[in-house]
Amino acid sequence: MNEHPTGGIAPIDSSVAHPARVYNAWLGGRDNYVADQEAAELAATANPQIVPAVRANRAFLGRAVRELTAKAGIRQFLDIGTGIPAADNTHEVAQRLDPGARVVYVDNDPVVLAHARALLIGTPEGATDYLQADVRDVDGILASAQETLDLSRPVGLMLVAILQYVPDADDPHALARRLLDALAPGSHLVLSHPAADIGAEAVAASMRVYNERAADHAGATPRTRAEVVRFFDGAQLLDPGVVELPDWRPGPEDTPAPGLPMWCGAGRKP
Ligand code: SAM
Repeated sequence: MNEHPTGGIAPIDSSVAHPARVYNAWLGGRDNYVADQEAAELAATANPQIVPAVRANRAFLGRAVRELTAKAGIRQFLDIGTGIPAADNTHEVAQRLDPGARVVYVDNDPVVLAHARALLIGTPEGATDYLQADVRDVDGILASAQETLDLSRPVGLMLVAILQYVPDADDPHALARRLLDALAPGSHLVLSHPAADIGAEAVAASMRVYNERAADHAGATPRTRAEVVRFFDGAQLLDPGVVELPDWRPGPEDTPAPGLPMWCGAGRKP
């Protein structure tokens, strides 16, 4: 376990909403406080598509890890914005297909660190590590990740439902690009992001409610499909491109659900 705290990491504060705990509340988990529950409920009332969207987002994460492991030969993952462990975490999906898979998780919320210690335990053949770090600390993340991952070989870079917490002023596109640039050819980027152009009014209303209650710097910014496509600059988008969550390589168990306000996709670094 590598705790690697970097600058800007706040101590646990239960009086304001935090993204990991609000997301846990939307998923029906119990690892959240009253401030998180209030923000989760008010945002979901403003936009009833939120709860189906976060469930579809978790399902997308699982499908993408499965596809990368089974079809693209990816055996190591850098999962930034891990969230409080839920069903089918990245290492569980990957290690089911290859017990030797290696995963480094990164999150800036100390609550996630506390749960990660107990829950993110992988196979003896593989490796699972955890960094407490902010996604903006690209150099620190890469320096620590290479203690567990072989960065000369392809990595699955997971930026799933995290970059909405990085405001335009901190240039989330440049962050994604710097991370991908540091990885070997054949690496893949998997990304999802709340949409600014699907059900825009409801999304704006729910973000407003959420942002009023969020911890400092934890406010969220939805982005358009074109802005999400730009995260894949420098990568070749895999089929079917940047689409709504249920449309990304659905399995037989996935039911169509048009209009969920998130975009997602995966791309390969040539
Ligand atoms: N990736 C998981 C998924 O899609 O199921 C969890 C997504 S959850 C909505 C977003 C996670 O990103 C939270 O756990 C939150 O603590 C983390 N996060 C938010 N801002 C972050 C930042 N600046 N650096 C690192 N992690 C951050």
